[in-house]
Amino acid sequence: MHSGFFLPQTCSPMKRTILVLAILLVVATLVILFWPQKGSEPVNKQTTAESGTVEIIKGLKTCPVCGYDALTEKGEVCGNCGYAINKQEMEEELLGDINSLIIARQLEFFMPDTLGKPIDFLKPEVSPKGYPKNESWRPKVYESQVFEYQKMLLELENALAPADSSESAENH
Ligand SMILES: [Zn+2]
Repeated sequence: MHSGFFLPQTCSPMKRTILVLAILLVVATLVILFWPQKGSEPVNKQTTAESGTVEIIKGLKTCPVCGYDALTEKGEVCGNCGYAINKQEMEEELLGDINSLIIARQLEFFMPDTLGKPIDFLKPEVSPKGYPKNESWRPKVYESQVFEYQKMLLELENALAPADSSESAENH
């Protein structure tokens, strides 16, 4: 009689441990779910996240070619794209005006590594070197112009490249 009563009672501690385990599991899930919120305090870091952990360099002038604030002085070599927009460069490139020089440099700078890859002239907000993009800066070239230029370059390369075909080499 006694043992009959005793047996079902031994089951309840087991149920209790299952219940405790279930509660622990819920608590653990909640902790995991809410954990990232504790870690992500600085909102400012999100802008730098795209370009890694570079420090933003501030206080420089906007480069007319790449649109990043990376010029110590107007006409100087850009710390970001490496181009300088000045009269000397313009004359060296045999161009009639500064605008044409900027366009020529932009065609080179914004050329994607693969033909037809969409170009975002205003991204990333911070260059990999740490220069911030001037939000009010606008490019002088269109995406389609860059693509056309790249296509033209590739065609030119293909026309000049084949070293095997002696025809094109002899013509020159
Ligand atoms: Zn630049």
